[in-house]
Amino acid sequence: MPCAVPPLARPTACAALLTLTLLAAPGAGGPPQSKPSLTGANLKQLRTEVAKLIDADYPRLDALYRHLHAHPELSLQEEQTAARVARELKDAGLPVTTRVGGHGVVAVLKNGPGPTVMIRADMDALPIVEKTGLPYASKVRTRDRDGRDVGVMHACGHDVNSTCLTGVARVLIALKGRWKGTVVFVGQPAEEMGAGARLMLADGLFERFGKPDYALALHCDGRYPTGHVNFRAGQMQANVDSVDILVRGKGGHGSAPHTTIDPVVLAARIILDLQTIVSREVSPTDAAVVTVGSIHGGTKHNIIPSEVKLQITVRTTTDELRKRVLEAIGRVAKAAALGAKAPAPVVQVRLDDYTPALVNDVALTGRAVALFRAALGAERVHERPMSMGGEDFSRFVRAGARGFYWHLGTAPPDRVAAAKKGGPPLPGVHTDVYYPVPEPTIRTGVLTMSLAALDLLGKREE
Ligand SMILES: [Zn+2]
Ligand SMILES: [Zn+2]
Repeated sequence: MPCAVPPLARPTACAALLTLTLLAAPGAGGPPQSKPSLTGANLKQLRTEVAKLIDADYPRLDALYRHLHAHPELSLQEEQTAARVARELKDAGLPVTTRVGGHGVVAVLKNGPGPTVMIRADMDALPIVEKTGLPYASKVRTRDRDGRDVGVMHACGHDVNSTCLTGVARVLIALKGRWKGTVVFVGQPAEEMGAGARLMLADGLFERFGKPDYALALHCDGRYPTGHVNFRAGQMQANVDSVDILVRGKGGHGSAPHTTIDPVVLAARIILDLQTIVSREVSPTDAAVVTVGSIHGGTKHNIIPSEVKLQITVRTTTDELRKRVLEAIGRVAKAAALGAKAPAPVVQVRLDDYTPALVNDVALTGRAVALFRAALGAERVHERPMSMGGEDFSRFVRAGARGFYWHLGTAPPDRVAAAKKGGPPLPGVHTDVYYPVPEPTIRTGVLTMSLAALDLLGKREE
């Protein structure tokens, strides 16, 4: 695959003059500058230096990526992945703390007074049997939380995210003379469950290692070409809630429904009534989703069961809308039960599984995007629509850091072009045939993350 990153400029004569000195810590108050501090020759020079460091580190990055890809672990089981990420950060020269909120890994790079920038990578994989046919494809099988035998696959690209984290650590250590402040590198477990960020924060992430002024994260996107990035300022992803409904009835013989209260029929009614929440109660200009993803009840043709279980995912854009939709789900379920003379259903919003909406800081996004355009070429930096997916990086933002989360394209450019012309669609993340093209995806990840951090940690050129 040809490298999609444009060829690098040679170091210029003014390289020796390049200095990035202290930027006063922004504190809790004012918004960040919306323009990058790194521009023009300074940026060109630093980009060249970062790219050289990535070149020198690339064999290690590639080997690490392949290792992580071949040895995926499910959410909350990331013991070996965390140990490997910790070792890589230690080998780079950082003090590392492990077992933060489960298998979380934290390494702190202190470099004098200045802002604190947190860089987060998620580490967990998914219960999917890999079918990519890659030479380094996962053959791992394990038991999930419910004791089921499952395949395990890095189908969301967290192996790329974790690999990039270690590469950025090496770049920032090598360029310590060019910036001031503190960088907190975070290997986060259990993103796929929406649990890891919450567990790390509950274990004192910000209190023990410093509250970040800025939090940065990148993630793979299978629909964009490798070497490209995409972003969205402001709202990027949705509030995610999980709701369980236990529909209760009265069981009996299938031949005598009149002696029962049939929870199967009642569940069917509830499912259809739920469809009216988004279509009739939410403004057409707001976005929300109510999906019943699971329905279980009964054992046999001729038995009317006493209960049916529904599992629902709910996506909303604002806290106010979230409250209204969750209230409506309970109301609709109870009203249907009342109409059927059934006992009240048990409606449980699983607060532990809640993931708040991800909102990128607009000024920080604008600043980083200007930097990416200058570093990668504007044609490789794309604005994307909002998604109703979830991402628990949002918790770090809610906890007070100004956040920016962007996507790395990971697909072969020719396949993206073919898909755009009506050819075979590109496999997205979470499918058994999804894989990121390692190069230049990893290079682009380390480059963009390093530059975004250096820009925040360096001096504003006025
Ligand atoms: Zn995922
Ligand atoms: Zn992911």
